[in-house]
Amino acid sequence: MQLLRRGDSGPGVVEIRSTLRRFGLLTATPADTPEDLFGADVEQAVRAFQQQRGLITDGLVGPATYRALREAGWQLGDRMLALMISAPMSGDDVVALQERLLELGYDPGRAGGVFDEQTEAALRKFQREYGLVPDGLCGPATLRSLRQLGRKVTGGRPHLLREQELLRQAGPRLRGKRIVVDPGHGGPNRGVVVAGVAEADIVWDLARRLVGRMAATGMDAMLSRQEDTCPTDPERAALANSAGADVVLSLHTDANRSMHAHGLATFHFGNGSGATSTVGEALAGFIQRELLIRTGLQDCHSQARTWELLRLTRMPAVRVEIGYLTHLGDRRKLLDPAFRDVVAEGILVAVKRLYLLGQDDQPTGTFTFSDVLARELERGGAQAI
Ligand SMILES: [Zn+2]
Repeated sequence: MQLLRRGDSGPGVVEIRSTLRRFGLLTATPADTPEDLFGADVEQAVRAFQQQRGLITDGLVGPATYRALREAGWQLGDRMLALMISAPMSGDDVVALQERLLELGYDPGRAGGVFDEQTEAALRKFQREYGLVPDGLCGPATLRSLRQLGRKVTGGRPHLLREQELLRQAGPRLRGKRIVVDPGHGGPNRGVVVAGVAEADIVWDLARRLVGRMAATGMDAMLSRQEDTCPTDPERAALANSAGADVVLSLHTDANRSMHAHGLATFHFGNGSGATSTVGEALAGFIQRELLIRTGLQDCHSQARTWELLRLTRMPAVRVEIGYLTHLGDRRKLLDPAFRDVVAEGILVAVKRLYLLGQDDQPTGTFTFSDVLARELERGGAQAI
């Protein structure tokens, strides 16, 4: 689709207006404004919508915002839901179905709003156990049963509890934890390129430093791409899902039109309607704090987003934007191999903290790679190197 912004007009704008009105974000079109004009009122409503849904709040309707507008329009019962391999169904109705299944004690994975194999398996299990035809389709009969039943899982939001329970069961040892390290871009896609420095190369180098350290502590770390390839985000998510990864770490550097923008940000899955990854949020927080204290980068905070990689992965996933290549100071830091070692060490320690669950804690910024290695040797986890 074509990008729509303030000042544009056409039938696309009429559709956007009507959708935003349905969500209560836009009132009637002012008398002096044509219905098909993307005016200041539409821009403001788009920003509010983007804020609610964990999107970048730029007031523009590009592919991600357009997709979110469409998805937000679906309510459970509006259409039959089923697994479509080639073009999976997604929308707020799928979120509602997933949350309902979680409440009833089934496991459709994270309520990310995509009807995938795991959602289908959970739905079939529900249908079998409640005497319905186990066809994996969410039609009128299944809906009726879903609505009539009370909640079985109590004491909090079930999808949050499930993630935390998996983390607790995983135990504090790093050995055997499967980590997918995802260097952004790759191959012909260089990412941000400034003064001959390419994001794809920086994050590739950083990813290799991180994977090397993780392997030394006995973790089963793997890269999501080769040096000369650039899988799409859904492909990267599918790789992590089929590998049964415990955690996904996606590495990027940022850019801005302003050469003054700089700093560090981390992103985890979450949207405005309450679906979130608590463990992802915790890990993003650990990474943010460890890296801030070790690197002196500016704090651009930990934030919730609905980006494809965060939403389509079934395990906690964090995207780290390490500095701005468009900022001279950040770029200089990123070009220094010693700095990249510091970043790799900080991320490793943050992952360690996640699995320690608050035990064995040292102040942020003081744990070193050798400490982590020594602890793992004590626990019989690491290979002596
Ligand atoms: Zn990037």
